[in-house]
Amino acid sequence: METYRLYIDGHFVDAEGGRTKPSINPFDGEAIADIPVASPGDAEKAIAAARRAFDEGPWPGMSGEERSALIGALAARMKERQKELAANEARDSGGTIAKCGADAYLAQRQMAWFGEMAKRYNAEAREIEGMSRPGRSFNYTIREPIGVCASIIPWNFPLLMAVWKLGPALATGNTVVLKPASDTPLNALELARIVDEIGFPPGVINIIAGPGGSIGEAMTTSPLVDKVAFTGSTEVGRDIMAKAAGTLKKVTLECGGKSANIVLHDANWDIAVDGSIFASFYHQGQVCESGTRLLLPKDQHDEFVGQMVAKLEALPMGDPLDPATRLGPVVSERHMATVLDYIELGKKEGATLACGGARATEGPLGKGYFIQPTVFTDVTNDMRIAQEEIFGPVLCVLRYDSEEEAVSIANDSIFGLGGGVWSEDLDHAREIAARLRTGTVWINDWHLLSERMPFGGYKQSGIGREFGEEGLNEYTEVKALHVDDTRTRDNKPWYDMLVPREKTDA
Ligand code: NAP
Ligand code: MG
Repeated sequence: METYRLYIDGHFVDAEGGRTKPSINPFDGEAIADIPVASPGDAEKAIAAARRAFDEGPWPGMSGEERSALIGALAARMKERQKELAANEARDSGGTIAKCGADAYLAQRQMAWFGEMAKRYNAEAREIEGMSRPGRSFNYTIREPIGVCASIIPWNFPLLMAVWKLGPALATGNTVVLKPASDTPLNALELARIVDEIGFPPGVINIIAGPGGSIGEAMTTSPLVDKVAFTGSTEVGRDIMAKAAGTLKKVTLECGGKSANIVLHDANWDIAVDGSIFASFYHQGQVCESGTRLLLPKDQHDEFVGQMVAKLEALPMGDPLDPATRLGPVVSERHMATVLDYIELGKKEGATLACGGARATEGPLGKGYFIQPTVFTDVTNDMRIAQEEIFGPVLCVLRYDSEEEAVSIANDSIFGLGGGVWSEDLDHAREIAARLRTGTVWINDWHLLSERMPFGGYKQSGIGREFGEEGLNEYTEVKALHVDDTRTRDNKPWYDMLVPREKTDA
């Protein structure tokens, strides 16, 4: 069994006291690797290393080209090891090999993009329009790194989330302490090995695995940390924001969602039926921006649900490493129990099961954490299953009379991460999209994200954006510069308010 270690200040080290725990494959409950369990003391060492690397190391002062070369080399090595990273991820998280393969491909491509962005960011001095006058003054802003970033990521996209946090921090000259989720630490720790091969200056990237409750606290309260970047549940997001307040850290949060998927009356069902399945059941529904509330016109409801259910019941469940598998297990036994509790809640609240509704245990599935794809109809938006994030293969279907009502149901949520509209009339779909209070809306598609496009949540789905120019800006401070170009006292009458001008003979 593979043994991993913490990566602190350019060295692989054991956790304090040598504590370890196994990482579990959710397909069969077997241990696949031995993982260090960091303590708050280990987190403090990692934070101190990142602080030194920022304050004294070469990293923040390196040119964009120099940083770009190292980030580019990291991306290239990730590309070479793509297949291995994909298989690691499938075994650690239960994601299908198709999903994890796509993630490993995207991870190296996105890291390469951040490498390219590193060049641009150092060079960028923006003149302030209308202020600068030749011979008088020059006024501009530059963007500088914030400092030490504490990055905390979830278990649903372990490798991609590591890239989403490391990429922008490194591209803009910050140093990082990254903590993967306890359920899926493998690829972050594997990434540490790649980082080590590339030869970043020590302390620029530190990767520590351990419990969020204890080392997460050290990361969010330490006075040596300047920014916390978090992806995970809204509940933990709130806690992190409160803790970071003590030292006024910059905070970006990517939290939960309960995104509405609105099928309009004129939708093309060739794509809307499969698209709605993709929207809600991709990665067993463990995606923050999934379309988990499907809104259907009343008169089309039964036929649409019927077509979906027939397809869902035919989706092969099995070993994530088998290319034929379409649905894998959920991430852990504990998470399976949470999702099954929500299914019981849905029944109690009066929703109707159109399919699924239980653990899947046939043959080899019995050893793993499999849940049947589950569709609830007769859901009303005030039910807890319609308001809370279930984060599993459970879809809630709601009926609507008018588009007015559909928009109002869609927006009746504490969340605002994603949303979707299916229609043949693109202008009309865009009008509906404009009324949805969410950070992303797909029209006739779902889940597509790009490193060039900002992603993030309205309302309690988060604060700030990842990706795009907006995402990079979240890792920078803005410095305003005024450069006097007159070099004479004559041009500074404002000094007279305090310092009387000396009379000169000239
Ligand atoms: P979680 O409990 O919020 O955990 C996310 C990360 O935070 C993990 O690394 C966790 O460490 C850590 N953590 C837990 N408690 C902490 C604390 N008090 N202080 C600091 N860090 C702490 O969420 P999860 O159960 O892993 O993931 C499922 C949830 O994440 C879903 O509800 C979903 O909405 C959300 N999510 C959102 C997005 C997005 O982009 N918006 C993406 C993915 C997931 P441990 O693993 O050690 O507990
Ligand atoms: Mg695992």
